[in-house]
Amino acid sequence: MVANLSQQVSGIDQLGEWDKKYYLHPTTVPKTFSDNGPKIIFTEGNGIRVKDAKGDTYIDGVSMLWNVNLGHGQKELADAAYEQMTTLAYGSSFYGYSNEPAIRLAEKVVSIAPGDLSAIYFTSGGSESNDTAFKLARFYWHLKGRKGKKKIISITNSYHGATVAAGTATGIDAFHNFAGSRDIDILNAKAHLTNCELGDKSDPNYEGCIRDTIEKEGSEAIAAVIMEPVQGAGGIHIAPDGYLKAVKDLCEENDILFIMDEVICGFGRTGKIFGSDNWDIVPDLMSVAKGITSGYSQLGGVLMSEEIRNTLVQYDQILGHGFTYSGHPTACAVGLKNLEIIERDKIVENAKNMEKELKKGFKYLEDNHANVAKSRALGLISAFELQADRDADLPFDKSIRAAAIVAEECYKRKLILRTADFEEGKNIVAIAPPLITKKEDVEEIINIIDDAVTAFENKLE
Ligand code: PMP
Repeated sequence: MVANLSQQVSGIDQLGEWDKKYYLHPTTVPKTFSDNGPKIIFTEGNGIRVKDAKGDTYIDGVSMLWNVNLGHGQKELADAAYEQMTTLAYGSSFYGYSNEPAIRLAEKVVSIAPGDLSAIYFTSGGSESNDTAFKLARFYWHLKGRKGKKKIISITNSYHGATVAAGTATGIDAFHNFAGSRDIDILNAKAHLTNCELGDKSDPNYEGCIRDTIEKEGSEAIAAVIMEPVQGAGGIHIAPDGYLKAVKDLCEENDILFIMDEVICGFGRTGKIFGSDNWDIVPDLMSVAKGITSGYSQLGGVLMSEEIRNTLVQYDQILGHGFTYSGHPTACAVGLKNLEIIERDKIVENAKNMEKELKKGFKYLEDNHANVAKSRALGLISAFELQADRDADLPFDKSIRAAAIVAEECYKRKLILRTADFEEGKNIVAIAPPLITKKEDVEEIINIIDDAVTAFENKLE
């Protein structure tokens, strides 16, 4: 319907006015939005590209919110939804009821999950998955008779979601800028992905670590530790080799469950099916969402170890936790089709191959632009930074807004990227296109960034 608006400028204006007035947007500055209206109204998508109401086409360089992994306009997913909706659009999973797509998807996800992850609880998204993981961890210890084990530890620069619990676990200060409610049993360890869990307290980023927090709180108070294998919103920080194993060992030593937040990394983003697979780590609980349906339907889930699953089914106690849309048949049918396509079209392998192309592109950018630094990629999640002096590791002054300007220059050239500039002195530009991205697409993306960085450099002068 909105596609026709490209011929009706007054229609776009009307939509813009209604948008400003009636629609309060997530993770947006309300004042800026109500002053300026929408930057872009998406109308159509095809492959790695999206079209807007003015008829312009953009490369979706971040898969929207790192979720549209199979790209836009995937008709097979739409057909799966249509078929399911016209057969049984919705059926409850409460009170002993079930439905076929949910059962089949549970079996499928477990079959590709690492180690002994052996059952899944379905949710409608990533925040719900993390809240569920916290509750399952607490329920597990409750059933084990260790009722004091309630606290959850998260780390700096983590993003775990927007609900009270997942939001509290989020270790990015910008998400805590108002006096919102907090879950008092969730602690931020002030630990960075690069320091003392590996035994190195001399790291310049050292502020504390998970081990310190466990010692301070006492392991009998702690249910679980949560982290992402690659921190997404917090700045595309890839766990260094050995880090996740060190945390897993620390958890085992202290009878603490390890929750891996695979909401971004799950289902191929990192060039392996799960981010954890890059380091052969098997967590006790694993949160998934986004890539499970490539964003075509709202679905998430929490995978759990055999030990947790067996403990839950051993006791005659209600799991007092459920979402209306847990195990939604249409969402699960889309998820099943999505996983079938991922396997059939070798999407995970493609993500791994494109990592090499991205790294080549980053090398070119670093060779040609003295301000481009610290590039990194794992599969198709990647970033580079902008620095005033990369040899001396010196940041740009905050007022220069280096990452925002480069992203804006990319946007002018019809490439959508996103920035992470929450950390003092960091100007990070994230690139995470759909997992169907080809070599020529990566080249096009790098060429646009090349021009955008040149435009930024010219502005600096
Ligand atoms: N965990 C991670 C790692 C995420 O990136 C996100 C969303 N960006 C979430 C959890 C929350 O997911 P949702 O927005 O679907 O609730």
